[in-house]
Formats: sequence, C-alpha cells, structure tokens
Amino acid sequence: MRSHIRKISRYVCNRCGKDCRGKGKSVVNHIKPRTKFPHLALEPSNLELVCTECHNKVCSRDDKNPNRGASNKGIPNDPTSAWSNY
Ligand SMILES: [Zn+2]
Repeated sequence: MRSHIRKISRYVCNRCGKDCRGKGKSVVNHIKPRTKFPHLALEPSNLELVCTECHNKVCSRDDKNPNRGASNKGIPNDPTSAWSNY
C-alpha cells in the first residue's frame, strides 16, 4: 500500500514539491485526519505523499493530539472520546 502511493507521487512532496526520495524523508499523510475520519484511513484518495517537514506542519493537529491517551485511572483525556461513556 505505502510503496504504491510513493510510486504514484514519484517521491515528490505533494505540498512543497520537494524531492523526498530516500528512507525517512517522506511520509504518507492522511488528508482528512484519521481521528475524525477513521473510515478513510485506508482510502487511497485520502492519502498523499509529503516530506517529513510538511508532515510535521500539516499533521501536528492529528498525530500530536494532546488529548490522546488516557490518565492512569483509565479515563480518557479526551472528553469526546467514545470511551468516556464507560
Ligand atoms: Zn514538503
């Protein structure tokens, strides 16, 4: 799946157009955050190849969600989490 995406994008960042060939220089980004659109997580049209620099800018809201995880009592930090109901 991931190598498939990279082949399509020809190792060029979808955001800044930089050549991001090479290990660890590119990231497959979810255009719509998978936290909000989990059903699109594996949808090819929702994936784009970006360099790590752009990924850090674009995805900070997604992957570095401060509400992610749970307290040591097992209560989710994110009050909108489905687990809050338990
Ligand atoms: Zn870029």
